[in-house]
Amino acid sequence: MNDILPPDSARWEWLEGVIRSLMDRYAYRNIRTPIVEPTALFVRGLGEVTDIVEKEMYSFEDRLNGEHLSLRPEATAGVVRAVSENSLLYDGGKRLYYMGPMFRHERPQRGRYRQFHQIGAEALGFPGAEIDAELILLANALWHELGLQNVRLELNSLGQPHERQAHRVALISYLQQHSALLDEEARRRLHSNPLRILDTKNPAMQDVVNAAPRLIDFLGAESLTHFETVTAILDANDIAWTLNPRLVRGMDYYNLTVFEFVTDQLGSQGTICGGGRYDYLMEQVGAKAAPAVGWALGVERVLELLKEQGKVLAAPACDVYAIIPNAASLPAAIKAIEAMRAAGTSVQMHASAASGAGMGSMKSQFKRADSSGAAYAVVFGEDEMARGVVSVKSLRDGSGAQVEQALSDVSSWAPNLQSRATN
Ligand code: ATP
Ligand code: MG
Repeated sequence: MNDILPPDSARWEWLEGVIRSLMDRYAYRNIRTPIVEPTALFVRGLGEVTDIVEKEMYSFEDRLNGEHLSLRPEATAGVVRAVSENSLLYDGGKRLYYMGPMFRHERPQRGRYRQFHQIGAEALGFPGAEIDAELILLANALWHELGLQNVRLELNSLGQPHERQAHRVALISYLQQHSALLDEEARRRLHSNPLRILDTKNPAMQDVVNAAPRLIDFLGAESLTHFETVTAILDANDIAWTLNPRLVRGMDYYNLTVFEFVTDQLGSQGTICGGGRYDYLMEQVGAKAAPAVGWALGVERVLELLKEQGKVLAAPACDVYAIIPNAASLPAAIKAIEAMRAAGTSVQMHASAASGAGMGSMKSQFKRADSSGAAYAVVFGEDEMARGVVSVKSLRDGSGAQVEQALSDVSSWAPNLQSRATN
């Protein structure tokens, strides 16, 4: 679990800002659900035989009433619960997005943490393939806006439960024939959740799962049409994709379209975003049935990939550093600084240091002003203030040019000092 500190936190805020603006253009609205949910919601929603439910959840008993609770390992189940409890689908489908921390007890490594952050989009109440495509286009537009490259889209269809049943029989029989090649986990899941075996990360099992019966070959006409409608929209929008018949995703709740955005630049944690259709989840958690589809991206992985690709942000800096040589000037200086801020100018005020005596010398204050990255220093000198003025010095152009400005007129000159770099 990581602390996210400045200046790095500025990258997080930038990413969140880009996503908010994009969600707005696709008409997705923000939803915020609790971090803690009843454990049963995840067990029923994600499936009993999944990595998350079997071994990754932070679960505990409420000391006061014995309720079984878990820190959310993902947000879709909570969104579905909230949509149902608040009857959000009474007047048609809803497009929603969320941002926030998720918790999974995994082995920490690059791109894999125990508290990590997801941003996700969900469209509930829409059965059509056009919404699957819309969500994929939305994610793709995001990579574009962020300037991310080398992200490829993998698609699969998990069909419907009856089609999965036929595939399951074929898959179990195939895996039984190759049982010598299966690891312990795969043997354990052979009858409880054979599909999940296709998702194995064990290098020794790649050949055997690659040659396994493909779910897509078991799909009927309707499921195939759904898949082809999605891919036709992607093709028309010049979105490259590949079929990955082994793509099954980590939760049991998916059906029909599933997808992942993958990169080769993050080692083995290469999936930056994954999602799919989950038409049966509402029912599964005890809500009124409704079709739905969504995705979630891993914020840490997206930021890491941006870094890997050399995308740097200018370190955040203020417009103005306020230099206040004499403590006696503080009340009047701060009044003027407040007026500058009200006019939209960002001001970092010099403050006395824990170690030093009082406000510190002019020289040391100027030093701080330089290292703050501010474009201007505004000096609240005692003599100048007695004359009703301050001096404004440019810190960036090397000229050291200095002009006087009237204290009585802050709101007219302060906006001219706004020079922050925007990314
Ligand atoms: P993986 O196969 O890497 O374990 P997953 O299938 O468990 O991923 P999802 O539950 O689909 O992942 O979550 C969506 C995205 O959230 C992932 O594609 C990934 O970018 C991110 N993610 C998942 N688990 C973690 C984690 N422990 N640390 C950081 N990011 C994560
Ligand atoms: Mg996982």
